[in-house]
Amino acid sequence: MTVRKTIALIAHDQKKDDMADFAREHQAELMQFDIVATGTTGGRILDACPTLAVQRLKSGPLGGDQQIGALIAEGKVEMLLFFTDPLTPLPHDVDVKALTRLATVYDIPMALNRATAELLITCFDKA
Ligand code: PGA
Repeated sequence: MTVRKTIALIAHDQKKDDMADFAREHQAELMQFDIVATGTTGGRILDACPTLAVQRLKSGPLGGDQQIGALIAEGKVEMLLFFTDPLTPLPHDVDVKALTRLATVYDIPMALNRATAELLITCFDKA
């Protein structure tokens, strides 16, 4: 029996179009994962790809990023794609640092931009 791996998806507001696009382009790869996402990002992904099963957590600024952090700490996330916006000051900027730290502690692949996400999603062993 193969255990499906979990991918976590987050995008800051200015990067949500990019994430929706990414999801459309890589729907076949994403289908092989269990998907968790922060609230609004998950909604945008579902609008773009209605057939994907996405578990939506709270919105990032309301704790969704931290919920994903908790899942990473529990060993329940195998890859994190977080499209961050480096040009807009955000009240929850610290969440980027916290998730970077946890992804490093638990040694999971993490992409902070689309170019790296493209590489990860195409080369990651989903089995
Ligand atoms: P959101 O959260 O998907 O609910 O907008 C993402 C974030 O800004 O951390």
